[in-house]
Amino acid sequence: MSELKNIDKSYVANTYARFPIEVISGKGSLVYDDTGKEYIDMGSGIGVTAFGIADDVWVAAVEKQLGKLQHMSNLYYTEPCALLAKLLCEKSGMKKAFFCNSGAEANEGAIKTARRYAAEKKGPEYYTIVTLENSFHGRTISTLAATGQEHYHELFQPLTPGFVHAPANDLEAVKKAALDNKAAAVMIECVQGEGGVIPLEKDFVLGLADFCEKEDILLLVDEVQTGNGRTGALYAFMNFGIRPDVVSTAKGLGGGLPLGAVLFGEKTEFTLKAGEHASTFGGNPVCCAGAISVLERMDEKLMAEVKEKSAYVFQALEGAPGVEGVSGMGLMIGIKTVKPAGDVVKACMENGVLCLTAKDKVRLLPALNIPMPLLEKAIEVIKGACV
Ligand SMILES: *Cc1c(COP(=O)(O)O)cnc(C)c1O
Repeated sequence: MSELKNIDKSYVANTYARFPIEVISGKGSLVYDDTGKEYIDMGSGIGVTAFGIADDVWVAAVEKQLGKLQHMSNLYYTEPCALLAKLLCEKSGMKKAFFCNSGAEANEGAIKTARRYAAEKKGPEYYTIVTLENSFHGRTISTLAATGQEHYHELFQPLTPGFVHAPANDLEAVKKAALDNKAAAVMIECVQGEGGVIPLEKDFVLGLADFCEKEDILLLVDEVQTGNGRTGALYAFMNFGIRPDVVSTAKGLGGGLPLGAVLFGEKTEFTLKAGEHASTFGGNPVCCAGAISVLERMDEKLMAEVKEKSAYVFQALEGAPGVEGVSGMGLMIGIKTVKPAGDVVKACMENGVLCLTAKDKVRLLPALNIPMPLLEKAIEVIKGACV
């Protein structure tokens, strides 16, 4: 093992089981390890590098801001923060944005908003958030509580109270959970990512939105993974034609720098008042400048390309030998393989393609602008690894 791997093993906390590759650099959808070996990147840092590694437009935007102002406290106005909020609201139909640094932190903001809203409107006993079984909402104590997978909970008791889980796509069960528990909100991922890349059924999502509206229970949509063009719409909720009360996002938003956002709809834009929520690094000018360069390019044409590439991957893999099924939306794709997913990912890595897993599936989250020839090459390698 190389010197660097030894240093990492000695000094970096043991929380990550790393693959045996040291990544040195990259360009677009290609990355290189310390031996010079080239890989096609089908994971993009878990859906973070939306336009790939060292994307020229993003680098220029970040560098320009870096030389001007790298940080300022939220006590003052800064241009990238304001302009990014405007862009996000105009493109998503939401009304206001709060910036933070990660997906979990964005979900914490969404949860606080729901509690604040319901306590004010209905009373302090309306604090429960209903989330779905098999969901994933983050690693903090509250977002773990929100996560509907018991195995994440066991080692960290007691978690934040006030979360109940109901089965996905079972509208009656979610309604009952919400009404029985005096729910403040229901939180969903339109496509369960860590849970195995499983889209929610459209009728369920529409029925849920309707129910939440009627009962004045907030609908929180966790778009940390599905957001920022990933599913072929700027936000996945747009594919379903619903209007969430709160949207949380992160991953692809910053194009590779840490940035999360909570987006508020008409009901919630004034819920959190001055002094009630904050984040020191939130709205960092460099992160926001990079995000503007990402968001500005997420237009109809790019979304059409995402959908086309998605259709290509589904068509190439569905029914292929060793493939039991393909699920997902846009360029967020899960492959149920006959072989264990981990073995397929390992074989892909040996053959120069980096993939992810989600539960028992191989998961693909390539850069949204991955060139077609690279995508085709990667899919050939993946198909080879499945048999
Ligand atoms: C990744 C993810 C999170 C957590 O994001 P972090 O930035 O790691 O805190 C939350 N929700 C969903 C749906 C995610 O995919």
